[in-house]
Amino acid sequence: MSFPIRLDGLFINGHWSAGREHLRVINPASEALLTTVNGGDEQAVDQAISAATEAFTHWSQTTGAERGTILRNIANGVRNGRDHLMKLQSSNNGKPLFEAAIDVDDVIATFEYYAELAAGLDAQQDSPVALPSDDFSARLRREPCGVVGLIVPWNFPMVTTAWKLAPALAAGCCVVLKPSEVTPLAELELASIIAESGLPDGVFNLVCGTGLAVGAPLSADPRIAKISFTGSNAVGVQVMQRAAETVKGVSLELGGKSSLLVLDDADLELAVDLACGGGFFNAGQMCSATSRVLVADELADEFLERLQKRAQAIRVADPFDPDVEMGALVNQAQYQRVLGHIDRGLSAGAKLVCGGNRPAHLPRGYFLQPTVFTQVPLDSALWCEEIFGPVLCVRSFSSEAEAIALANDSQFGLVATVVTRNAETADRVANALQAGLVWLNAPQVIFPQTAWGGYKQSSIGRELGPWGLAAFQEIKHVIRAV
Ligand code: NAD
Repeated sequence: MSFPIRLDGLFINGHWSAGREHLRVINPASEALLTTVNGGDEQAVDQAISAATEAFTHWSQTTGAERGTILRNIANGVRNGRDHLMKLQSSNNGKPLFEAAIDVDDVIATFEYYAELAAGLDAQQDSPVALPSDDFSARLRREPCGVVGLIVPWNFPMVTTAWKLAPALAAGCCVVLKPSEVTPLAELELASIIAESGLPDGVFNLVCGTGLAVGAPLSADPRIAKISFTGSNAVGVQVMQRAAETVKGVSLELGGKSSLLVLDDADLELAVDLACGGGFFNAGQMCSATSRVLVADELADEFLERLQKRAQAIRVADPFDPDVEMGALVNQAQYQRVLGHIDRGLSAGAKLVCGGNRPAHLPRGYFLQPTVFTQVPLDSALWCEEIFGPVLCVRSFSSEAEAIALANDSQFGLVATVVTRNAETADRVANALQAGLVWLNAPQVIFPQTAWGGYKQSSIGRELGPWGLAAFQEIKHVIRAV
């Protein structure tokens, strides 16, 4: 794909403009410069919040049906731009086109889902509340919480945005969005689609830029009612600290260290499939990566042998290669971070089963072989910390209770996968796991109807489903003496 040399990085009050900060946008598969985005700073954030604050007066009074129509227009715009958005996603993020297609389809499904929820809001507004007294009546209103700041990471650009933006607009909030400075291209295109959707000026504003120049002032501004953040725990804590000063609401979607449990009656081929999906999809750069693979003792040797074979056969290639199975990591910093984890794992005594290096046929680009470790010490960083790369740690267990304890022994609690032929066992184990979403014998499918988010340090709040909408609403009760 070819790009203009410079792109405007600000969409404020319905107008594009160039900010003062130059963000270099790289193709991770070639390490070449794709384009430069003129991102913003504190001043641009101020302008965007002013525009959103002004627009809120009107937008917050629109009906759910009106908002639903616009959300549907956005979904249609994304559908019409599907091919282009997929290519942008692959060029800027390094993910294969077939993975980018899943991203774009998820965005469409999310806008359509919240279009429906928005349309349903009108009938629920002012619903009566049953009271234990005839002297009073009460009604319930759900109102938009105000102007909200949305801050998103680089691993699923557009998707993490849609999970926040669609419910925020459905609720009647006005928005200032800050995409990742690493992957702004898909969000810039999404903003162009939104500009054509009929959304009034100022309701949606986009400010590209770095965390410090844009994310920090956005999190601190007293006019922002709520910050919805997806990213690392370290930054999530800073966002929460800044938000605390003006008692903003915060929703946080942070890291994970999730497990795939292969129980003693598991279908081994399915287990290997799911291990590869949970470890190597998006080059492992998933908060939901099931990077701990726990296998029943009696299956462990055969599982490891099959996993090694499968991992070594995965075709790592350019995201646009028709036969690609795994693409590139997102940038140099992430590449070095993952290699550092691999080195430290080896120093800690973990045994490398396969991978750990750049594939020999790919001298350029941030490509890494699918990597499998075993005998990983339980107190090592490799076992405990989020790696965010294509690295699996396999460990065997001798009882169901031990498997559950190993899976739950983490500061995180985002997701888990269980593989077993026994439906009763599957449910029992799922119920015992401290995770916001558990897949049973299933790949990591996500529906807008089911919540996203986790236990412990993985999240505060939930996205998607009605919970995602409620995150942008205030509850108001009106009690009248009769
Ligand atoms: P990051 O925390 O470095 O950055 C996330 C966003 O925050 C970016 O837009 C960044 O510019 C911004 N930011 C950075 N410093 C800031 C500051 N001081 N104030 C405000 N904003 C600031 O994360 P990343 O490296 O882009 O993404 C990877 C992380 O995201 C991983 O830890 C991953 O687990 C997490 N993640 C979580 C989920 C989830 O749903 N739980 C989904 C995707 C990614």
